[in-house]
Amino acid sequence: MSNHVRVRFAPSPTGPLHMGGVRTALYNYLFAVKNGGEFILRIEDTDQSRYVQGAEDYILNSLNWCGLKFNEGPHLNGDYGPYRQSERREIYKSHITKLIESGYAYYAFDSEKELDQMRTDLKQAGVQSPQYNQITRLNMKNSLTLNDEEVKNRLMNNESYVVRINMPRNQVIKFKDKIRGWVSFNTNNLDDKVLFKSDGMPTYHLANVIDDHLMKISHVIRGEEWLPSAPLHIFLYQCFGWERDMPEFAHLPLILNPEGDGKLSKRDGDRLGFPIFPIIWNNSENYTATEGYKEKGFLKEAFVNMLVFLGWNPGNTKEIYSLEELVDDFSLERVGKSGSRYNFEKTKWFNQQHLRLKSAKQILKNIKFPENKEEDYLLKVVDLVKERCVFYKDFLNESTYLFSPPESYEKEAVQKKWSTESVSHLLSIKTKLSLCDDFSKENLEIIFKNYLKSSNIGFGKAMPGLRISITGRMQGPSMFSIMNLLGKDEVLARIEKAIKELGNGEDNS
Ligand code: GLU
Repeated sequence: MSNHVRVRFAPSPTGPLHMGGVRTALYNYLFAVKNGGEFILRIEDTDQSRYVQGAEDYILNSLNWCGLKFNEGPHLNGDYGPYRQSERREIYKSHITKLIESGYAYYAFDSEKELDQMRTDLKQAGVQSPQYNQITRLNMKNSLTLNDEEVKNRLMNNESYVVRINMPRNQVIKFKDKIRGWVSFNTNNLDDKVLFKSDGMPTYHLANVIDDHLMKISHVIRGEEWLPSAPLHIFLYQCFGWERDMPEFAHLPLILNPEGDGKLSKRDGDRLGFPIFPIIWNNSENYTATEGYKEKGFLKEAFVNMLVFLGWNPGNTKEIYSLEELVDDFSLERVGKSGSRYNFEKTKWFNQQHLRLKSAKQILKNIKFPENKEEDYLLKVVDLVKERCVFYKDFLNESTYLFSPPESYEKEAVQKKWSTESVSHLLSIKTKLSLCDDFSKENLEIIFKNYLKSSNIGFGKAMPGLRISITGRMQGPSMFSIMNLLGKDEVLARIEKAIKELGNGEDNS
């Protein structure tokens, strides 16, 4: 194998790309960029019965949103195309012919009925999972049991057939997986998988191996569900005489549901209320649309950051990464063997962290604030409430009182904190504020603290009343910053309005 890194993401266009698929693409991308290699998109569309209109575009749009750019693929030029398997039929045909001629593969003419019968008979005889294999094939209709003449006649009469691998008995197939270490299989446990069908289409196994070889793929990085297929793939490399150019394999751990008791599925997302797709999927068959992370308000940086940690870690405590930083730190050696649990709360946390990294200007572009304020004011609003927001949409909710006086006052807050005592403090503070001309945060803080000191009371006696009267809420960012933004006239008017509407606290005392 040459040292030049070439990796591929090889989805089947059978529906929308699940976040697990995006993680596979992401790891391939990071590995390619880190090693100065190529990241290739190959569409594995040999199973026409499962082909779904729009799936290929969806895959491209999703990965594009995540910032994962391909170097080669059906939508780009490249020296190893075509990059859609349905456009490579001739290549597979010539290769399967070679395998048949060399005895590594054989024709099988068994009908569905005959195959079912074989399975039923074997089950009755106590075989738990019957297979078409080194033993059972001897009782079936194939070019190993039929004479040459008959095989020729069947082929000439265009009888439908499949081509199966001729898996040898009792051989050990071993390989060193980059994540799992040495893995070994005995061929006695492997069946004679179908490689090619009489409709001229290869199956996944054959097409995948031929393409990885012809496209000079150096590393196959894919989900753990493909591990059981790896020995067949390795055997195919041996049959073709390509062992020396065989790619290295890395089988990625599963992404588990939040309970950790199964593979993460769309059903888990529906059940627990989190997205499973990267972007919206418009199903053209039943005209339904399923929103993805993007539409739910997640930043692509946060989505990618969350995803990379479902299987990999940097070996230190750093958690917040940009895509560029991931390229620097990523390695397959730090991908674990065991499954990682998905955690929606953690995903939101990542979003919050990435939102905080954005400048007020960047954030402002994504929010539609009321139009009666200057940009300068809006930027201050953004900075003030930023820490309290997880999504862009939170900025509006978190800042309503910075645009107009509260229309109502949080009931619970009033019940708990609006009392004759707190109102009397509020009135005193109002007097102090009305005498003050410096409404800077610092000065407001000094005035307030001096008041606490001179009245010999704690923060909790005076602050909630002030906050309720100005914001209508129990919680929020620094009151000194809020008062500074609103200005003296507005602050005094709001305190008066609140006392008028809520009374002097006698009802709650
Ligand atoms: N077409 C396979 C899939 O849908 C690709 C598996 C592989 O990467 O070998 O996941």
